[in-house]
Amino acid sequence: MAGRALPLVLTPPKGRKKPPRHLADLSLAERQDEAKRMGLPGFRAKQLSVHYFGHLVDDPEQMTDLPAAQRADLVDGFLPSLMTPMRTLEADRGTTRKTLWKLFDGALVESVLMRYPDRVTMCVSSQAGCGMACPFCATGQGGLQRNMSTAEIVEQVVAGARSLQRGEVPGGPGRVSNVVFMGMGEPMANYAAVIGAVRRLTDPAPEGLGMSARGITVSTVGLVPRIKQLTEEGIPVTLALSLHAPDDELRNELVPINTRFSVAETVEAAWNYARVTKRRVSIEYAMMRGINDQAWRADLLGDVLNSYGDWGWVHVNLIPLNPTPGSKWTASDPADEREFVRRLEAKGIPTTVRDTRGQEIDGACGQLAALEA
Ligand code: SAH
Repeated sequence: MAGRALPLVLTPPKGRKKPPRHLADLSLAERQDEAKRMGLPGFRAKQLSVHYFGHLVDDPEQMTDLPAAQRADLVDGFLPSLMTPMRTLEADRGTTRKTLWKLFDGALVESVLMRYPDRVTMCVSSQAGCGMACPFCATGQGGLQRNMSTAEIVEQVVAGARSLQRGEVPGGPGRVSNVVFMGMGEPMANYAAVIGAVRRLTDPAPEGLGMSARGITVSTVGLVPRIKQLTEEGIPVTLALSLHAPDDELRNELVPINTRFSVAETVEAAWNYARVTKRRVSIEYAMMRGINDQAWRADLLGDVLNSYGDWGWVHVNLIPLNPTPGSKWTASDPADEREFVRRLEAKGIPTTVRDTRGQEIDGACGQLAALEA
């Protein structure tokens, strides 16, 4: 402040700071109010909602029940373009599709569609980048660019739903049954927008997509106050806690936020979530060779989890590490992985090993965006 006058208005170099407001950011009542503010009848907002959430229409030409003059205003006001696909990579004969999106300000995020015989899961991003700095995660290396808006999060799911509806994914027309917040970003660090997105995904059409909350998984490094808040929210989503180590010494290194919230505090918050919501919590554990995959750590993990009771409140999902370029970590030896599973199961902890879909298309969190940037 060496006596120099500051400009009166501090504007970013170009463009706007916030993503444009979109239908999916608003509840149905808010959309109706907004339509009236635009000088249009409130019911037009509902008609537009039927197109967007009910029929997944994105071409205004198809909205023939809207008078042409009002259609342009409605589309301008409610359906601004939020994201452009930059690249789509396919694996598993087209049943795994990863899309790199460019947001309005140039930020890059990824989403992945995974079709299984009995379900379709969309893995979505909640932030461009991530501030949690986990050293084994590609997204963590680039830091946080910005939070995504509710509509930017929802639009990833809607885009996947559209491609399924149009039969673009092998297996015939289908629907999105599951959404996991396991793409880029820490959902609990963008709490309001993420809860907004969960509401929009679960609100019955035409207010939202009408999905079951049980099909939605919010994955977190363990921001304890936010886990507590989610516990009170009354939305029965599945909580996944990225633990990766049962002891503070190692977890401080692998998940740096652990220096703020210890393993004990974090696991207790997750246990309380299970207790209150009756939803079984998932403990995510990326298996890293020689780092966190020792038999004694499996025993310790089992003991830590069982110290909150063995009433089936938790299961462990082991994730084979997807090595990021230049990182010193690699995936565990299959024999060590089997022993880890055996020891957890011996302690009564249901344990699964995540399939490694899409590894050849840089399936792991943030790798595609990191490559592009
Ligand atoms: N920030 C949230 C959600 C995004 S990551 C979270 O941390 O839970 C989703 C999961 O992928 C997390 O468990 C994360 O630790 C894990 N992950 C990140 N990079 C990985 C990698 N290279 N290999 C395997 N799992 C990884």
